[in-house]
Amino acid sequence: MENAETASAEIEPIRLRLFDWWSRYARDLPWRFGRTTPWGVLVSEVMSQQTQMSRVVPYWVAWMKVWPDAASLAAAPKAEVITAWGRLGYPRRALRLQECAQQVAGQYADRLPRDYDQLVALPGIGDYTASAVMSFAYGERIAVIDTNIRRVLSRVFLGRESTGGAASREERQLAWQVLPEDGEQKPVSADEGGPEDVGVQDGGAQEDSGRLGLADPKVRSAAWREPPSARWNQAVMELGATVCIARKPACDICPLAGHCRFLKAGMPGLGVGRTRPRQRFAGTDRQVRGAILQALRQASGEPVSKEDLRHLCEDEIRLDRCIASLDEDGLLEIGQNGSLSLPQ
Ligand code: SF4
Repeated sequence: MENAETASAEIEPIRLRLFDWWSRYARDLPWRFGRTTPWGVLVSEVMSQQTQMSRVVPYWVAWMKVWPDAASLAAAPKAEVITAWGRLGYPRRALRLQECAQQVAGQYADRLPRDYDQLVALPGIGDYTASAVMSFAYGERIAVIDTNIRRVLSRVFLGRESTGGAASREERQLAWQVLPEDGEQKPVSADEGGPEDVGVQDGGAQEDSGRLGLADPKVRSAAWREPPSARWNQAVMELGATVCIARKPACDICPLAGHCRFLKAGMPGLGVGRTRPRQRFAGTDRQVRGAILQALRQASGEPVSKEDLRHLCEDEIRLDRCIASLDEDGLLEIGQNGSLSLPQ
């Protein structure tokens, strides 16, 4: 953007279109729109790191039923925590989340801090998760920067692909520059269901999420009551997850197509920012580690011998390596006789 004047003239119609799209096509996920606690929002964010949100829903629902707050998770047996993590992948996250819960319960009397610096100091919480909690749970005005947001903002406003790696200074500046001021909130229409139709192309999200759009008027109304900065962060991220995806953006149904510099420029270097090819899963240590944990979960606390796990991996060296790495990560315990079990 050349200057602030151009920026504000350019941003306003983009916001209107995006907010309208958000109210029509946001996935009605159970941790959105003020229906859970800040702790619930944090759990959803940790679960969705490296796992698709639509896959997270049943795990999150079951998890929050058993451990609705930090204190209950802090006191849970590790084996139950690892078991409940199920097939969300990267199970170390479960143990880090429990460490985080222990700190929140002990240090903050079971109340998740409403302070970026305190959040980012918690185990397993980085810049993204701390910002997401500040914005989505507390409604604080803060730029949330993840891969999806970087991709959308870079395409729409800069006309180029976001590069991989850490967010650049320019990307951070852009995210702050286009973030709405919360004092700018426009009054919602009579039924509190959102603004007048702004003529967005009719098109839904690409990811198979089950439920699309905010059919329930109460939820729709809650969505419009969120501060504009929080709504913006969530809507940009949602567009990046469901429409403006990395390799094949669905520009034909995108609400921002008429404003997108990247589309206008002919999408130069589409996908170049995606430096890491999607990791193969079959035949990797990750797969073997997952299979070992699944076998231990199914044993329901009974110790399992290494012999019982042989069928999971023909390569004995790999099997040993995976058992050792799970032990190192605190995800299993090796008994005196060499038997394996989930940690207590
Ligand atoms: S027009 Fe295409 S590239 Fe531009 S934001 Fe929309 S989906 Fe992404």
